[in-house]
Amino acid sequence: MNVSLLIGGEPVDAHDGATFDRHDPVTGQCASRAAAASVDDVNRTVAAAHNAFEIWSQTGPGQRRALLLKAADLMESRQAEFVDLMLRETGATAPWAGFNVHLAAGILREAAAMTTQITGEIIPSDKPGVLAMAIRQPVGVVVGIAPWNAPVILGTRAIAAALACGNTVVLRSSELCPGTHHLIGKVLNDAGFPKGVINVLSNAPQDAPKIVEALISHPDVRRVNFTGSTRVGRIIAKLAAEHLKPVLLELGGKAPFVVLDDADIDHAVNAAAFGAFMNQGQICMSTERIIVDSKVADQFVAKLAAKASKLPAGDPRGHVVLGSLIDLKAAEQMDALIADAVAKGAKIVAGGKRTGSVMEATLLDHVTPEMKIYREESFGPVKPIVRVNGIEEAIKVANDTEYGLSAAVFSQDIPQAIATARRIASGICHINGPTVADEPQMPFGGVKSSGYGRFGGKAVIDEFTELRWITIEGPQHYPF
Ligand code: NAD
Repeated sequence: MNVSLLIGGEPVDAHDGATFDRHDPVTGQCASRAAAASVDDVNRTVAAAHNAFEIWSQTGPGQRRALLLKAADLMESRQAEFVDLMLRETGATAPWAGFNVHLAAGILREAAAMTTQITGEIIPSDKPGVLAMAIRQPVGVVVGIAPWNAPVILGTRAIAAALACGNTVVLRSSELCPGTHHLIGKVLNDAGFPKGVINVLSNAPQDAPKIVEALISHPDVRRVNFTGSTRVGRIIAKLAAEHLKPVLLELGGKAPFVVLDDADIDHAVNAAAFGAFMNQGQICMSTERIIVDSKVADQFVAKLAAKASKLPAGDPRGHVVLGSLIDLKAAEQMDALIADAVAKGAKIVAGGKRTGSVMEATLLDHVTPEMKIYREESFGPVKPIVRVNGIEEAIKVANDTEYGLSAAVFSQDIPQAIATARRIASGICHINGPTVADEPQMPFGGVKSSGYGRFGGKAVIDEFTELRWITIEGPQHYPF
């Protein structure tokens, strides 16, 4: 499939005709051949978005809402295309791809609802006869940079609320799924957004640093959002700081899943398996550390290992729970994490093997802080189990990470579970639920090295509007 750039509502080739290929991680066949943007293309894309801003920022909430709702319906009607592309570009399973479309449509509908929630306030002024207001206005061109792991959800999230707030957008697609990200832009354009409101740029992997820098430094770009690794997040944050652009960063995670000694074990096992192995563990909220009280550890680990061992892994075109990892390199990284942990005393209690880029659901018991898997985000289906004694040690281990995105606590004593949840440093924490969960209306984001800023709910309005102080006054007395 050929993937063009989407500039000013039109599919166009890169200025110099350059392209790059993305290969199916399972079959090795070319999944998409995408336009490789140059800095010239960045400039014409931002110009198209900037030109469209004047008209789009003046539209009323009713018009924006109607278009966002139409886009949501259109996205759902093209689910089969999204699923096919996601399978070929990322090796994901059809249920995960279908869920991507479902949640992304929900994100568009929530953004539609948000159009009438962009409110301001009247603030009492000490100056006589003055009416003082705080109002929210669109900011201009917003750049969204989205990853491949939940491509429809995260590509849509990167632009939906920004559009609802009256901004125009440039979606910088992932090099690993340019077709899937392009289709989001195409669907929104087909829904009838004015030309130039939504633009999509793809670039060759080796050009990412210069394309991203050209986007962030462009004077007409007013806000940036980035979802990706903490390593690249730091680069983006530095660039944004240099150009004094506010940035929303949704970065990596190492979510703790805490099982206290009074947990409902069967319930915890099911939630742990789902959070650990959905999409092969390639979710920022994936359960990355299972922290279990030693009083119930033997029982919990036996049940979880039995469940994990039965999860079928293979070509996503078959009936499997685990599809492919994003590429062979990611799978080899799993081997290295397992080898390091086993050499330092961990025990494989489920899985451990792989075929090409397909890795079995793997559990490593008796993991300790010296092992790489204890600290590093695996972003794959290899999960460490850390045994602890009591709540204090569980909380200490849960917080023994640079990350802080999602977390979970399992206990039947709800006051104890809430007290524990409050002491875990993370943006999100679920009591008696998996670490993986998302709803468009919820404030989503992390603390520590998982980033800053929030998507979702009303919180996102602050990210994509400028808060202004406006007064109306009559003649005043001045000192001179
Ligand atoms: P990544 O950070 O490796 O890559 C993201 C993008 O960064 C790439 O597409 C590339 O174009 C760009 N990039 C690479 N080098 C660059 C440079 N020097 N300058 C500028 N840009 C550069 O992440 P990924 O592999 O796409 O995604 C996986 C990561 O994303 C995981 O860490 C995961 O936890 C995180 N993630 C976070 C969330 C969230 O909401 N917090 C959601 C999904 C994924």
